[in-house]
Amino acid sequence: MSHKYVYLFSEGNATMRELLGGKGANLAEMTNIGLPVPQGFTITTEACTKYYEDGRKINDEIMAEIMEYVAKMEQINGKQFGSLTNPLLVSVRSGARASMPGMMDTILNLGLNDEVVAAMIAGNPDPKFERFVYDSYRRFIQMFSDVVMEVGKKYFEELIDAMKARKGVKFDVDLTASDLKELAEEFKAEYKKQIGEDFPSDPKTQLYEAIRAVFRSWDNPRANVYRRDNDIPYSWGTAVNVMPMVFGNLNDNSGTGVAFTRDPATGEKKLMGEFLFNAQGEDVVAGVRTPMPIAQMADKFPEAYAEFVKVCDILEEHYRDMQDMEFTVENGKLYMLQCRSGKRTAQAALKIACDLVDEGMIDEQKAVEMIDPRNLDTLLHPQFDAAALKKAQALGKGLGASPGAACGKVVFTAEDAKEWKERGEKVVLVRLETSPEDIEGMKAAQGILTVRGGMTSHAAVVARGMGSCCVSGCGEINMDEANKQFTLAGKTFKEGDFISIDGTTGNIYEGIIPTVDATISGYFGRIMSLADKYRVLKVRTNADTPRDAKKARELGAEGIGLCRTEHMFFGEGRIVPFREMICASTVEEREAALAKILPMQQGDFEAIYEALEGYPVNIRLLDPPLHEFAPKTDEEMAEVAKNTGKTVADIKAIVTALHETNPMMGHRGLRLAVTYPEIAVMQTKAIIRAAIKVQAAHPDWNMKPEIMIPLTSEVKELQYVKKVVVETAEAEIKAAGSELKYEVGTMIEIPRAALTADEIAKNADFFCFGTNDLTQMTYGFSRDDAGKFLNAYYDAKILENDPFARLDQVGVGKLMKMAVELGRPVNPNLHVGICGEHGGDPSSIEFCNRIGLDYVSCSPFRVPIARLAAAQAAIKFPR
Ligand code: PEP
Ligand code: MG
Repeated sequence: MSHKYVYLFSEGNATMRELLGGKGANLAEMTNIGLPVPQGFTITTEACTKYYEDGRKINDEIMAEIMEYVAKMEQINGKQFGSLTNPLLVSVRSGARASMPGMMDTILNLGLNDEVVAAMIAGNPDPKFERFVYDSYRRFIQMFSDVVMEVGKKYFEELIDAMKARKGVKFDVDLTASDLKELAEEFKAEYKKQIGEDFPSDPKTQLYEAIRAVFRSWDNPRANVYRRDNDIPYSWGTAVNVMPMVFGNLNDNSGTGVAFTRDPATGEKKLMGEFLFNAQGEDVVAGVRTPMPIAQMADKFPEAYAEFVKVCDILEEHYRDMQDMEFTVENGKLYMLQCRSGKRTAQAALKIACDLVDEGMIDEQKAVEMIDPRNLDTLLHPQFDAAALKKAQALGKGLGASPGAACGKVVFTAEDAKEWKERGEKVVLVRLETSPEDIEGMKAAQGILTVRGGMTSHAAVVARGMGSCCVSGCGEINMDEANKQFTLAGKTFKEGDFISIDGTTGNIYEGIIPTVDATISGYFGRIMSLADKYRVLKVRTNADTPRDAKKARELGAEGIGLCRTEHMFFGEGRIVPFREMICASTVEEREAALAKILPMQQGDFEAIYEALEGYPVNIRLLDPPLHEFAPKTDEEMAEVAKNTGKTVADIKAIVTALHETNPMMGHRGLRLAVTYPEIAVMQTKAIIRAAIKVQAAHPDWNMKPEIMIPLTSEVKELQYVKKVVVETAEAEIKAAGSELKYEVGTMIEIPRAALTADEIAKNADFFCFGTNDLTQMTYGFSRDDAGKFLNAYYDAKILENDPFARLDQVGVGKLMKMAVELGRPVNPNLHVGICGEHGGDPSSIEFCNRIGLDYVSCSPFRVPIARLAAAQAAIKFPR
């Protein structure tokens, strides 16, 4: 035989997850440890990949192998597919490596047709058995039509409801055998009406179609979205499990249940779950009837319950993790249908990990590894009240750009946000897009919603920095800023209307959904200190206010990796002199304006140094194009004109001249310092003076400010600007009679800088990768506009993830690796970090660990995530 695509459960084991999927590997493992599992087979994930390679076809070779395993399964179970004397019925279930809602999940009772049904009934005179057979049949037709042929559940549910109404009964279990028989006929007729063909009666055709449907579901839109959100590669594919049916709906001595070995909400160690007698798997989840708590099963099914409890212990002991299980009791006998490591809340995850360490079940590294860093988000931000959220229906969806929940009155301008907040209102700021001028309004708002912009848009970056909830890029919104209103899903929202937004899912809701504050339990701290014990990467933060810096320190940041000084220029009293500086016609005019800013900037830096308590602070010189700060309204222009002795027409002309066609590739970054060295001089003075002052106040701190020059592409421009910085700094230090040490380094955010990193490293104390710009410049995708076409790229499978959120390791990562490898040999003291948004993304952090960076820097609320991700990376890939 050429390649093996099918495995009996008895041929696999838990380590074969990649090939057999999670479900298949665990069914094999449970078989191996002697648990009662109906014996079937798994079709591998490779068969799924082959299905796509072959143009969405299951090729003859694989189909023949599947049929061979059908025969083996028939032999093992002593029943035959389609037999009229001893028919074999099966379930068909998908099972990827990681559990994935959104894919086709389950088909039960496959193998039934009119003849098999008749033969089964003929072979058992019990009228209850007849009812059971028709119950199974109608379920099968419905599930097959729904999940395989995508007809839609609702048609069948309508028929069931009509039948129940006709018979005057409330529950499915009250329908008789003949009712169900009639229902099965109605279902088949509905199938024919919808599909235009008879319901397939050949069990082998049914099986083929079901397997195909599982493979097909790997590529449905829901699955694709889920994969993108959860870092699951498309290339993995899904396996298919075919298992002989056991019947929880056989009689009242049968039933089906789902259970967790620990509470998935709190982590408490106790068996949790539900059981429904005389029912099949989907009934428990579908809420057709109210199931009983699992403990009550002890009374009704004492033996099966006792055995189940034993199985739970065996499984926990075996997998050393909380298990989520599905099982069925047929005529009093227990069968295990699935086990997996159970999904849990972040809170439960932390408690379970700590408890397992204390119970001696796992070691510390394992505890660190078993927590999904992304889930920690939910512990750090206010959340919607779970019960209220369940009842709410989303009106629309944007990007979940900064997690948390926000609920408030809609306002459309930053000024309104500020004003409304001052009078005690809670507001959500809704903008086409935000700009640096909106900062104060953003701070005042509970949350920010934008129509445009991606994961690294201004709104997203700033909101994450502030720990505010943000939904960005909701293109479905029809914005009418002039009239202070917008429409979404046919609803018009006016200023003052209530809206709720979820920055984790990107969902947007009408009205008020109450929020609850996040709490950090003791387990959180314990896991964080374990993470710190095992990580190698340092974790810094991107912060440009003392408030953010303090928050980041509380969350464990070991320094500032990026302080964007431009954000300070919008503060009270600063923007006016800054505009005077922009509109200056001579160096003297510019210096006069800068002199007004210097003490304020120095004060900002002092406060930030204080907040960092001696930990390293990296301050970046001015980066954005000046036009972002330029006066816009007539009033603003008039104010600048008045202060500078120019005319409004002069100011207008200056502002017009600042316009650039391509500002992100324009006059920004260190180019500003090349043309206006005075700006770099002022900022350097502020950085050094502040450091000298704070050092004097805290002799035990070891102050060593890092001055970062942005956007280098050519070593000579770096040398040029560095000279200005160093001369200024030296003069300041000398004048103060201080011995302050400082460093001057650069951002690596233009491909040319990475390509010439050996030259650059000779002139830099450190590198910090600005992967936002590096991604923008490497792809040539605008970081502000790419969101508009990225969806088409996902649909076409050109990209699987937003490269601005998850580092492109192949291209951008290659440049980073190259820069590190070129830079370190020529400058052994060079320290290297990352401060683009990727510095807070777990998979990107893993990459940074692998290429040997010294630190990652991310927004304050991502610091715990980064600490944990860095520890996981260090455990997985020891340096
Ligand atoms: C970057 O480009 O990655 C970066 C951190 O700088 P900014 O986002 O301010 O351009
Ligand atoms: Mg940048």
